Amino acid sequence: MNDETWNYEPFWDEVMSQCAKDFSPQEIHMWFERMEYHSSSKDAIIISVPSSFVKDQIQQRYADIIISKLEQISGSPLELQFHIKQQEEPSHKEFKSTQPKKSRPVIQKPGQARIEMEKRPHPSLNTRYTFDNFVIGDNNSFAANAAMAISKNPGTAYNPCLIYGGVGLGKTHLIQSIGNTIFQNMENAKIIFISAEEFLNEFVMAIGNNKMQQFKNKFRYADVMLIDDIHFFQGNKEGTQEELFHTFNALYESNKQMVFTCDRPVSELRNLTDRLRNRFQRGLNVDLKPPSFETRLAILQKKVETLNTPIPDSVLHLICNSVTTNVRDLEKALTTIQAYAELVGKEITEEVARDQLKDILVTHHQNAINIDFIQRIVADYFNLSTNELKSKKRTNTIAFPRQVAMYIARQITELSTTEVGLEFGGRDHTTVMYAVQKIENKMKSDSTIEPMITRLIRDIRESNTKG
Ligand code: ADP
Ligand code: MG
Repeated sequence: MNDETWNYEPFWDEVMSQCAKDFSPQEIHMWFERMEYHSSSKDAIIISVPSSFVKDQIQQRYADIIISKLEQISGSPLELQFHIKQQEEPSHKEFKSTQPKKSRPVIQKPGQARIEMEKRPHPSLNTRYTFDNFVIGDNNSFAANAAMAISKNPGTAYNPCLIYGGVGLGKTHLIQSIGNTIFQNMENAKIIFISAEEFLNEFVMAIGNNKMQQFKNKFRYADVMLIDDIHFFQGNKEGTQEELFHTFNALYESNKQMVFTCDRPVSELRNLTDRLRNRFQRGLNVDLKPPSFETRLAILQKKVETLNTPIPDSVLHLICNSVTTNVRDLEKALTTIQAYAELVGKEITEEVARDQLKDILVTHHQNAINIDFIQRIVADYFNLSTNELKSKKRTNTIAFPRQVAMYIARQITELSTTEVGLEFGGRDHTTVMYAVQKIENKMKSDSTIEPMITRLIRDIRESNTKG
């Protein structure tokens, strides 16, 4: 269904007039008058604001109340999304006033309408994810080039395409860049971007509400279907897998582009029907590896370009040497150092950076102590030795306690899946992810699991403070 089908502007107007009564004139002037209705999509209302700052403030101060008013008025939950207005962009009101009354903004007319349309962000894509700000290194060049080729000629060269790799290596960035590029270049392409988790949720909701036909149509009439994190389909009810399978076939037959991302190679996915696995393996499978020192440095340099604060190269080197796991951690370290320097009004020097990095590394160190406690207490509880937990044995009596311990480690430490894996006899991070998911699923189906885990976590915390 086209986004133009949805128009929640009357709801928005009503919420704003209610708020005018509820808030002080200063607040109205300061924040509410800076919001402007922009557009609607199926489940969201999109509001224009003049800057990210205004957006953040509104989100913190008023989003909850606006959302709850919207729900009261419209009768169903609506998400609040923001569009940052470009300086030269005409406001919705100005624009509308040049149109016949009641016509929807955009689509119909050429000229100005088209310009506005191009600037409008795709409702489910983040405009931050573009090829322009994706740094290509030898760890990701195959995947990045494939992604760029796809976005130039969707549905032809590499279809389907699956991008896989560990957490924080750029999967979401790449798949969304494909979506953003096609969205900008092909005016009428219907692009769907969805995470596997959302796909599952929508599927379940559709069944519950008797809306299967709408659900099917949404996907089957897509020109481009992008699904992020398909490892979420593992172990899920066959119904969802079956629906995805048919969607896949329908789109494949009509040469529509499909791109998927996954945290591991398809061959390592478990609890997935063979025919679906077989579909994912078709076409091109490309992987993302952890970035080398040079690539890490290039990524940071690119990020620094967008900041106002200058950061000396020596500091960037320091970060790249300390944080080696993935790009997300790398960005986090940079942001922490930058925020610290800004808040205490200091220049970012090597000393500041070393200090902050030390803090980041110390938390890791403290957590390393925790993981011993976790292993000891979980092993005790199941009457095993910690060595057995770390061993290669895969009998159920050991595998389940090991999964519990891994799950807890992910819950109460800051350790990445890679680091947790290392603490369990050098296992791969994907094993840890699998364990977490397995336990989460078990918690849903077996009501004794959650209390057991809560109790174990309490024991671990207590013994950690004593020890
Ligand atoms: P994943 O989906 O694989 O877990 P993301 O795509 O969310 O990882 O990437 C984590 C963060 O790192 C994002 O902020 C993303 O923009 C950034 N990032 C990852 N790879 C690169 C790269 N090659 N160049 C620039 N930024 C990157
Ligand atoms: Mg991701």
